[in-house]
Amino acid sequence: MLTTYNQLAELNKAHLWHPFTQMKDYCAADPVIIERGDGVRLFDTEGKAYYDGFSSVWLNVHGHCVPELNQAIIRQLELVAHSTLLGLSNIPAIELAAKLSEIAPDGLRKVFFSDSGATGVEIALKMAYQYARNKGMESKRTFITMKEAYHGDTIGAVSVGAIPLYHEVFRPLLFEALTIPYPDSYRHPGGASGAMSETLETLRLLLEARADEIAGLIVEPVVQGASGIIVMPEGCLREIARLCRKHGVLLIADEVATGFGRTGAMFACDLEDVAPDLMVVGKGLTGGYLPVAATLATDEVYEAFYADYEEQKTFFHGHSYTGNPLGCAVALENLRLMEERRVVESIAAKAKFVADKLSSLKTCPHVGDIRQQGLLVGIELVRDRRTKEPYAWEERVGVHVCSRARELGLLTRPLGNVIVFIPPLASTREELGAMTDIIAASIRDVTEQGWRP
Ligand code: PMP
Repeated sequence: MLTTYNQLAELNKAHLWHPFTQMKDYCAADPVIIERGDGVRLFDTEGKAYYDGFSSVWLNVHGHCVPELNQAIIRQLELVAHSTLLGLSNIPAIELAAKLSEIAPDGLRKVFFSDSGATGVEIALKMAYQYARNKGMESKRTFITMKEAYHGDTIGAVSVGAIPLYHEVFRPLLFEALTIPYPDSYRHPGGASGAMSETLETLRLLLEARADEIAGLIVEPVVQGASGIIVMPEGCLREIARLCRKHGVLLIADEVATGFGRTGAMFACDLEDVAPDLMVVGKGLTGGYLPVAATLATDEVYEAFYADYEEQKTFFHGHSYTGNPLGCAVALENLRLMEERRVVESIAAKAKFVADKLSSLKTCPHVGDIRQQGLLVGIELVRDRRTKEPYAWEERVGVHVCSRARELGLLTRPLGNVIVFIPPLASTREELGAMTDIIAASIRDVTEQGWRP
């Protein structure tokens, strides 16, 4: 290494502004600086190994430094790193668009590339809005979103975001969206069925009264991620889709977190046989290698933009790196490997193994709820399991558990007092076992033994 740890730490503090981070807290501690990855583990500059227990922000599929994925990038790099989709096309972008339309839920045959989940969401919102305009439905100017939704950090995505801690400060800059509850079986007094009825009834009334104002409904299908890994009751997404269709409102599925096998199906929509009008994917698309996202649309949506230029129906949107060949090449290889290694088919057994391992936590006095869909797991910590009384956020119990886990060799980030466990999909049983042991030990150390950093 050219630079010593101390020099890097100093430069990190002097120049790097980290995402979702109170820099005053962060700068007070010694940073972990990752140097390399191998399989499901990351290694810091001091040689310490950590399990990647949150898949480097929920996106890793086959692990790190995978020879096939590395080679796919190198092969493409020797041809061309980037050109543009403005007036030109390129081989990996064409092949990836075709592949995505093949594996996506029925009817999503058109693919618009971008470079992050948030930009993919912006595109879906703009497409839904302009679709309505292009069809002469000018009054359709707003969207339905769900309480505690998270769709990314750009202004449009924040407008349909509903996590007060992240989004409220920007309210004056945002367009308005209508919010319905996301069914939270743990917190709703009526449990799963009460939560689901409330969601569907609110939606039905809203659509009956105002469908002519609503361009689309955006939803994190089956699992709402950033709000704390909240899993929808079975049948709920299907019913949401049915109501949207009935009232002529486009269904926008944000599969950024749930796509590519994470929930046990290729897409969470597949769990409920739902075919949305627009679908956003990102994160796992490249296996966790490069920033590529995509917004998939039906022919019906696409055709509303397909017109003579003078009709002014063109979708004026694009990014410099839209359809980047390196990103598309590694995404194609990721999808090929997923098929070859039967990754999606392997998730059910792994998920069951994880559920069995974590079930020992159910008797912990401070574990309120363990929510899981596939390899997407959230463990909600509470002050009192019986009353579900939450910990005060100032106590930072979730942060402490993750600090303890890091000390024990596992990386993850909390969502408030929900401990997230989202391992790379390729993790073996042994690796999943070692990871869940660390998580369980960290939770017990902090909530029962009073461990603090
Ligand atoms: N939608 C969902 C459901 C997400 O979970 C995320 C990221 N966590 C995003 C959108 C935004 O994706 P990105 O961070 O790539 O912009």
